[in-house]
Amino acid sequence: MSKYSIETKCIQSGYKPGNGEPRTLPVNISTTYKYDSSEHLGKLFDLKVDGHMYTRISNPTVACVEDKIADLEGGTGALLTSSGQAANLIAILNITSAGDNIVSMSSIYGGTVNLFAVTLKKMGIETRFVTENMTDDEVDALFDDRTRLVFGETIANPALTVFDFDRYVPIAHKHGVPVMIDNTFATPILCKPFELGADIVIHSTTKYMDGHATVVGGVIVDGGRFNWDNGKYPELTTPDTSYHGVVYTRDFGCDKAYITKARVQLMRDFGVPLSPMSSFILNLGLETLALRVERHSENAMKVADYLSKSDKVSWVSYPLLENNKEYEKAKKYLNGGASGVISFGVKGGRDAAVKFMDSLKLAAIVVHVADARTSVLHPASTTHRQLTDEQLVNAGITPDLVRLSVGIENVNDIIADIEQALTESQK
Ligand SMILES: *Cc1c(COP(=O)(O)O)cnc(C)c1O
Repeated sequence: MSKYSIETKCIQSGYKPGNGEPRTLPVNISTTYKYDSSEHLGKLFDLKVDGHMYTRISNPTVACVEDKIADLEGGTGALLTSSGQAANLIAILNITSAGDNIVSMSSIYGGTVNLFAVTLKKMGIETRFVTENMTDDEVDALFDDRTRLVFGETIANPALTVFDFDRYVPIAHKHGVPVMIDNTFATPILCKPFELGADIVIHSTTKYMDGHATVVGGVIVDGGRFNWDNGKYPELTTPDTSYHGVVYTRDFGCDKAYITKARVQLMRDFGVPLSPMSSFILNLGLETLALRVERHSENAMKVADYLSKSDKVSWVSYPLLENNKEYEKAKKYLNGGASGVISFGVKGGRDAAVKFMDSLKLAAIVVHVADARTSVLHPASTTHRQLTDEQLVNAGITPDLVRLSVGIENVNDIIADIEQALTESQK
């Protein structure tokens, strides 16, 4: 980890050019690498020397962006994936097998709910969901000797609940399992989950990290502090038969065992890497991450204030509004901002919400959040329409909920657009 502050890391971490080399990150569009001897390649295959073998596993351009993100989060290593969903899948399968279970907050991204409740279940991995009003004893009762991790989102998409680190980190660690945090909305600018006790961090880089709605991607970051050698993670602490006997904790240390296994075993087998070109584009986004997230948060705070005063709005949820139930946690865990995402209800329910959205001129209806342009979405009829009513309630979504992703345009223009569309919504 470098000593610089996060704004500097956004620009300077990762790629380190030598004398006379390109100033900006070179894009190595090559699937393959050249070796002077078969012996050297043999050592690479044995993981005895560092280097690149094949771009499915690693690539110099991709590696620089991975290093930057690891540095931004304060982790020991990172693995870029072709999407946030791929990151979640690999992050979980890296330490679970059929017969195991995981404990997850119920208020998480709809795609992740599907992954957990349907697809992982088919693979024999059960998810036990923590619902809103559970007591500590009830949460404790979800764990057994096959529980392998606790999962949550720093700021949940789209419910905007804030993960309670001080509550769940001690519970997870008491049960000898790591805390895995999807930090997509907060980004390392607003929250550093490793400093709050989390062990693994995941992002959909598609959102603020890319920031311009250009490339789909994901990343897994290893915090490097979890002690895997507690009997629950034999895949990390005993020989990997698919890798001629590598023992990840012994050969790479506890601090890099997890991320090394994710790369050389699961990325090898699933083949969901981020391409060098996509990594280059992601890196451009990362360079301005600190500036953008600051402005997104500032604009969203003003829009949330405006909405909470409007007589055409029935409720507003933004973690940093003082009357929000997440306010105390947002103050405690988030660094002065709560991202650009706001949810609110338009008076008149589902029909008025749709009329509001159709009347917007600057903000666009898109299936996306967290990029430079202001956008809106109606989760109940789009991203979350595969969920049952009960899952919708648990994910914090009502039929009138509009998810507004406040961009970095001038905030007065954003508010003026919202104002005229709200007027239309009530006609
Ligand atoms: C979008 C999103 C995902 C999924 O990421 P993709 O890049 O779309 O695959 C996962 N978690 C959260 C919190 C998200 O917002």
